[in-house]
Amino acid sequence: MIPILDLKLQYQLLKVALDAAMQETAAAGRYILGPHVKALESELAAYSGSRNGTGVGNGTDALHLALRALRIGPGDEVITTPFTFIATSEAIGMVGAKPVFVDVDPVTFNLDASLIEAAITPRTRAILPVHLYGRPCDMTTIMGVARARGLFVVEDCAQALGATYDGRRVGSIGDAGCFSFFPSKNLGCFGDGGMVVADDDSVFERVEMLRRHGGRQKYRHSELGLNSRLDELQAAVLRVKLPHLEGWNAARRRIAARYDALLAEVPGVVTPRDRPRAGGASSVCVFHQYTIRVGDRDGVRAALYDSGVETMVYYPVPLHLQEVHRDLGHGPGSFPNAERAAEECLSLPMFPELTVAQQDQVVSSLAAAVRVNPPRADAPAGP
Ligand SMILES: *Cc1c(COP(=O)(O)O)cnc(C)c1O
Repeated sequence: MIPILDLKLQYQLLKVALDAAMQETAAAGRYILGPHVKALESELAAYSGSRNGTGVGNGTDALHLALRALRIGPGDEVITTPFTFIATSEAIGMVGAKPVFVDVDPVTFNLDASLIEAAITPRTRAILPVHLYGRPCDMTTIMGVARARGLFVVEDCAQALGATYDGRRVGSIGDAGCFSFFPSKNLGCFGDGGMVVADDDSVFERVEMLRRHGGRQKYRHSELGLNSRLDELQAAVLRVKLPHLEGWNAARRRIAARYDALLAEVPGVVTPRDRPRAGGASSVCVFHQYTIRVGDRDGVRAALYDSGVETMVYYPVPLHLQEVHRDLGHGPGSFPNAERAAEECLSLPMFPELTVAQQDQVVSSLAAAVRVNPPRADAPAGP
């Protein structure tokens, strides 16, 4: 079976350094907010082009704490995409605010920034763009609307560490950037982990305070906070891996370019594309996923599985149709581009160590799978 992701290969590559880092941390006896967390916070902030970083328990808490730090709470609305992982809207709900969805751009799968303006109400406080699959959102338009209307921007960069928009790293463009080190992300640890980056010192200081039970000093608590810290052991692991991230992301882009070239010959498959950006801004995708669109997605997926190729569907049900968000009152048809994406999207094996031979097998299996599971004639896949 060609897996969609194989984390054991990365461990084997860095085994000596990783084992040494874990043993050194265990022996040193500082397990919470020790020197590795502090060092990683500086290194990751520098890497992502931000002044401050705060290690937290996971990417979901990073979003939650960033929103709390910006004092977003009950009665407030946050504009976001319905085509993402549940953590995005969950974090908005957990601070007591209401997620307000706008539909996605069918080409990039990211929220359609031209729809934001119409979704703003007097209660809107922030925009929460998600750089899905590693592809930057239209930050020119998003930042333009946010600045004109006095809204905060919290970037969900869980899938996009290292991606750039107009020469800047994602996460450093809005008021706060949120990262996840879940094992499958482009930079993953051996469990859960996350980080918030922010230029503004007051945002940074509030995240620091809130991640440790809402207190600036031990046993003095000014607000209800969370217990959400990045483990020292995970920080030690991440510091071994961070210097390799650029190389890994470059490998992902090479693999994506090769998929593009090979799949251009395969009818019925829509490969991921960017669109020209506002003002000619450049954008560099880090291909957390390589996600195609196919008409009979479930048929193609089953055929691929039978021929030894693992694929995944990120995500089969858009957030506005999730039971948890029933109270928002949306139904089928509310966000047609997101619904169509959820029906047609299929993520192919993508990890830096994927070999040319494996990739060739994915492509030939996919070509065969689409031949026997063609799209309906009246509904070709894609935008
Ligand atoms: C993974 C992910 C998160 C949450 O990160 P965790 O570390 O798993 O909590 C949030 N948003 C998106 C888009 C993600 O992919």
